[in-house]
Amino acid sequence: MATKRDYYEILGVDKKASADEIKKEYRKLAMKYHPDKNNSPDAEEKFKEISEAYAVLSDQNKRQQYDQFGHAGIDQRYSQEDIFRSVNFEDIFGDMGSGGFGRGGSIFDVIFGGRGRRGGPQRGSDLLSELTINFEDAVFGKSVNIEVPRSETCDVCKGSGAKPGTSPKSCSTCGGSGQVSRTQNTPFGRFMTTSTCSTCRGEGKVIDTPCTACHGSGSVHKKRKIEVKIPPGVDTGSRLRIAGEGESGTRGGPPGDLFVDIYVRPHKIFTRHGNDILMEATISFAQAALGDEIEVPTLNGNVMMKIPAGTQNGRVFRLKGKGVAGLHTSGKGDQHVKIRVDVPTKLNDKQKELLREFAEASGDNIRSKGIFEKIKDKI
Ligand SMILES: [Zn+2]
Ligand SMILES: [Zn+2]
Repeated sequence: MATKRDYYEILGVDKKASADEIKKEYRKLAMKYHPDKNNSPDAEEKFKEISEAYAVLSDQNKRQQYDQFGHAGIDQRYSQEDIFRSVNFEDIFGDMGSGGFGRGGSIFDVIFGGRGRRGGPQRGSDLLSELTINFEDAVFGKSVNIEVPRSETCDVCKGSGAKPGTSPKSCSTCGGSGQVSRTQNTPFGRFMTTSTCSTCRGEGKVIDTPCTACHGSGSVHKKRKIEVKIPPGVDTGSRLRIAGEGESGTRGGPPGDLFVDIYVRPHKIFTRHGNDILMEATISFAQAALGDEIEVPTLNGNVMMKIPAGTQNGRVFRLKGKGVAGLHTSGKGDQHVKIRVDVPTKLNDKQKELLREFAEASGDNIRSKGIFEKIKDKI
């Protein structure tokens, strides 16, 4: 899609335009470009564009959002339906005659693409499901069976909705087109409006003897077991798409897709930052001062890690390549081990004696500084 034009520019109004001015300009343009009045091929696109601009600029919150963040501020926050939800089209077109442009009439069909498509094959809706998995499963991947409630084409009537042996009849109200047209005289001239046929609800067909399995709807609700292959490297917020596992389509249309949002349970030891793994290891102050080798858990089992003499509290060691294999990147993250030096809270007499000797050897006159007394108070 081409880059979106500025909403103010589309309506030809100033950034400081009042709500009334915006409404007036939109009304003028809408009269010009409504596809029922304008036969040029790009009228429909144009009508959608001005209607979207109006929908955003006529809503105080959306306008503020747009002024501050531009198109991104709107597109990330609102679906197309949400954008148009706040608009009262009757309020705009109401006084030029009832019906036609009104709520639920052709204006929504134009904007949401329902025009002329009723009665034909329709793709099934997408479904969204959630899946909570263990930390390790997110790292290494796993196949999980989930149960998804969804509508499927009725086996009994093969989706027609009619009892086997009978077939749906063409709707007599609309002659099978699913739409009824009406010519209206308005202050702006004569024009035709089209709306969905209420007899067949746009299907173009009516069912005399409904299928008993689906009550004539052509689809049934089922809980379906679906195997989800979780690729290694997913994290909370990953969304998997399983093509063709959404709701079944109608009138021979393809099924929608199933989307699965992943949530990862926290791990007892590890936390994850992107492809890196973080953990804390506690060592004694003797180990920190003298150096040692400690056993550290990783995603692939324990490894030995060297602690150099003189290691300070809070120091972080890196185990290269011991992190997560990325979902979209090659190579692995690292594991970071943050050292916590444990200062003992209880000392026996021998330990105290040795520490005094240690302090003396270090040239610390602990008594005179009072530090040791403080330690003793705490014991
Ligand atoms: Zn059926
Ligand atoms: Zn009909």
